[in-house]
Amino acid sequence: MSKINSGVSVAIIGAGFGGLCMAAELKRMGIESFVIFEKADEVGGIWRDNTYPGCGCDVPSHLYSYSFERYRSATVRYPGQQDILDYLRRVTEKYDLRRHLKTGAEVVSADYDEMSAHWTIVTGDGLEHVFDVVVSAVGQLHRPKFPKFAGWENFHGEVFHTAEWDHGVDLTGRDVAVVGTGSSAAQLLPHVAERARRVSVFQRTPSWVIPKPKAEFGRVTRWAFDRFPALQPAYRAATYLAADTLLTPVIRRGWTFQPTAWAARRHLRRQVPDRVVRANLTPDYPIGCKRIVIDNSYYPAFNRENVHLVTEGIARLTPSGIKTEDGTHHPADVIVYATGFRTTEFLVPMTVRGRGGKNLHEQWATAAEAYLGIAVPGFPNFFMVHGPNTILGHNSNIFMIECQVHYILNCLRMLPGEVEVRTEAMDSYRSWLNTAISRTVWQAGCDSWYKTESGHVTNPWPASTRKYRKMTRRDPSSAFSATRRQPVAT
Ligand code: NAP
Repeated sequence: MSKINSGVSVAIIGAGFGGLCMAAELKRMGIESFVIFEKADEVGGIWRDNTYPGCGCDVPSHLYSYSFERYRSATVRYPGQQDILDYLRRVTEKYDLRRHLKTGAEVVSADYDEMSAHWTIVTGDGLEHVFDVVVSAVGQLHRPKFPKFAGWENFHGEVFHTAEWDHGVDLTGRDVAVVGTGSSAAQLLPHVAERARRVSVFQRTPSWVIPKPKAEFGRVTRWAFDRFPALQPAYRAATYLAADTLLTPVIRRGWTFQPTAWAARRHLRRQVPDRVVRANLTPDYPIGCKRIVIDNSYYPAFNRENVHLVTEGIARLTPSGIKTEDGTHHPADVIVYATGFRTTEFLVPMTVRGRGGKNLHEQWATAAEAYLGIAVPGFPNFFMVHGPNTILGHNSNIFMIECQVHYILNCLRMLPGEVEVRTEAMDSYRSWLNTAISRTVWQAGCDSWYKTESGHVTNPWPASTRKYRKMTRRDPSSAFSATRRQPVAT
């Protein structure tokens, strides 16, 4: 395969797992002509922003790490948020990426000029920057969703979102309301419950929860990992294969669908003795319809005297708490919104204009879509990491990121000039994608961050990750058209 022209300039937007992967891979190929624009003051993406107590990843780090920079530990299977952030900082240093990093630089717009085949991006300070290629790696789970309950302005206590944890607020001895029962709430509840006087958990829909392996390896595994280091990559491969083989069929009501639901019900039965609480925590929609929570400490928190599950809908906030629709007042000094993210609004609030000044958000008015989640017809030399329909609830998102970066690099080999996905390729991909989505449980009577209000599934990948790998290993020239031109002089 041909090399990437070292004169091609690349703007990477975002310095989370996706942007850093793109940058490190360019660096590994000897390409220096790239800049990473990051709106915050440090790398890390969601692992920088989410600092709530108990924050971590429910995918073991041996798998939740880059294949070219593998996490190794003979003791810890699930490192915490700070360790994952430290890992990303180490990658940044090791690949000398800070030199390419512009922090405090939010990209507000990206405009394509057809005559020159250049992208002009404008940052928040009003400066213009010209590149041949733009790779957006802004992620899907980074814009907090704040529900605006009636009377919100009257509440006298402290309010914050899980992704913007206020460490200045001491929860010791306070009445805390946690709104939401997804993965973030599940991780933080046991920690908050240990400090607070009372915790009221406002549940709109119960999550399916399955057991999680222990955070640390047992003695025998530690010994084996120490003695035979090659077992660690083998563990990574085994974890990957297990997730792909066991969890992918869950989203398609395949052979592991019922056993996984049984395992979740058993987990609940074993962990929550109170019949009423247990009934209230039991989901009434198919497992996999929403992101499954993988956790061992969430359910036991409901056995504590100071934790109360509230299943009545929230009517309004009062100066001193939350009133539910049955008229009950739940006192709260602090409200924690574990209410998730504005996931279906891709690339917001950035403005992206492609060929003929076409606005990407107008093109996505019904729902966001992209070929392999990576490219959109009419937007040459514009690529996405973690674009539409690429996120996973059933395996490591880092694997998906690496597939996308690999594919984008192959597209860059077709430069200098203009590389654009063909409309026919998008049409046939869309048709395959819609069929694959129609076979999943995501449309089966639940709302989730996977889809828009009108029901378009825009976020998750509907098949195995092996399938995605196969699709992103294909030569892009079968789906993209390329016109050769000279690169931008930088
Ligand atoms: P989430 O899964 O979207 O959960 C949001 C919760 O807030 C849901 O229970 C939702 O209820 C509730 N909610 C939203 N709006 C509400 C409203 N107006 N009134 C009452 N309740 C409301 O968000 P998350 O827990 O932050 O997790 C988001 C994703 O981040 C996860 O699914 C996962 O992919 C990722 N994550 C991963 C890990 C990990 O360990 N890998 C950890 C944390 C997060 P409904 O269900 O009724 O909408």
